[in-house]
Amino acid sequence: METRQIYADHAATTAVSDEVLAAMLPYFQTNYGNPSSIYALGRENERAVMDARARVAACLGAQPSEIFFTAGGSESDNWAIKGAADALAAKGKRHIITTVFEHHAVLHTCEFLEKHGFEVTYLPVSPEGLVTAQQVADAIREDTALVTVMYANNEIGTIQPIAEIGQICRERGVWFHTDAVQAVGNVPIDVKAQNIDMLSLSGHKFHAPKGVGALYIRKGVRIPNLIHGGGQEAGRRAGTENVPGIIGLARALEIATQDIEGKIAYLTPLRDQLIDGILKIDQTRLNGSREARLCGNVNISIVGVEGESLLLLLDGFGIRASSGSACTSGSLDPSHVLLSLGLIHEVAHGSLRLSFDRDLTQEDVDYILDTIPKVVDRLRGMSPMWETICKEGKRLV
Ligand SMILES: *Cc1c(COP(=O)(O)O)cnc(C)c1O
Repeated sequence: METRQIYADHAATTAVSDEVLAAMLPYFQTNYGNPSSIYALGRENERAVMDARARVAACLGAQPSEIFFTAGGSESDNWAIKGAADALAAKGKRHIITTVFEHHAVLHTCEFLEKHGFEVTYLPVSPEGLVTAQQVADAIREDTALVTVMYANNEIGTIQPIAEIGQICRERGVWFHTDAVQAVGNVPIDVKAQNIDMLSLSGHKFHAPKGVGALYIRKGVRIPNLIHGGGQEAGRRAGTENVPGIIGLARALEIATQDIEGKIAYLTPLRDQLIDGILKIDQTRLNGSREARLCGNVNISIVGVEGESLLLLLDGFGIRASSGSACTSGSLDPSHVLLSLGLIHEVAHGSLRLSFDRDLTQEDVDYILDTIPKVVDRLRGMSPMWETICKEGKRLV
């Protein structure tokens, strides 16, 4: 029998879809002109990039002139945060507010700024993995330059009250950036209605290629240019445009945002079946709120198993999953996100993240729910830690 193959790691990356690839292909060999060139081959690509910018803007409720193409989510986060810090330090504002469970592209950027004289407030998150607008309001000071709070968490899928935080920041005259890399295509986004000043997104999380992303910068938010050189991206980020990537990003974003309600309606019941099914295993817990949660995210701690071993065995059954974030796998430190929820190390270590897209089927769900208990049994059977827990009758969750 052939093993079923299930890709359950869409939060790490996604495949380029056929439609996106088809949109990109002409720009490799036929329409290869440099958008800055004068002849038609160049000008046509200049128009194609302009058109892509307008389409990306339309998907976010932004103006085309507010969209800047970058090389991905990490670059967009770095530009927004360091840019705001640089711009506002000149006005004596050296305080940044963020949360403890941001992606490392945000956290490590903030830590870098701390070494350069900035003060950073890391808001704690609730045991459910949420921050409140009130926490943000209470942390804002005279010298606050920027609030940066992620839209949806990449590990536990919790969705933050972005519009409320945006409103508070606007009222208090503080710039608000959000890393929306995981939210795009899963949550309706309108940067104007939600009072977002800067927003990061990354193509490879919604079926565009790796290495292309965008930063929305609201008109009136003046941050320094990122890359100095030619006049591309209105002179803000120099370098010949990644034309195929930009075309792919725009097409993928249109597809991802065209029926978000339908995706939520389809995926939520499947996700909940998975959550309820896995939670039937003894000593397991759901990480992150069930309600304020991405429709494709499952994150469960399973006491007595080790995350990496679980992933390896699941891979043998054709299930590609993750434990914590892909960026930190390879290190033995438990995920900072799970620790921020108050989990002890032993519990955080045995965590499983499954992340899905529309192609998930009922058969996939059944197969996963059939496989996981078998794998957990096998691992617990070999675990000295589980043996001790059972002997002492301890409950860790
Ligand atoms: C993947 C991810 C990033 C990084 O995006 P890249 O394009 O891989 O640099 C940043 N933030 C979040 C929340 C992510 O999930």
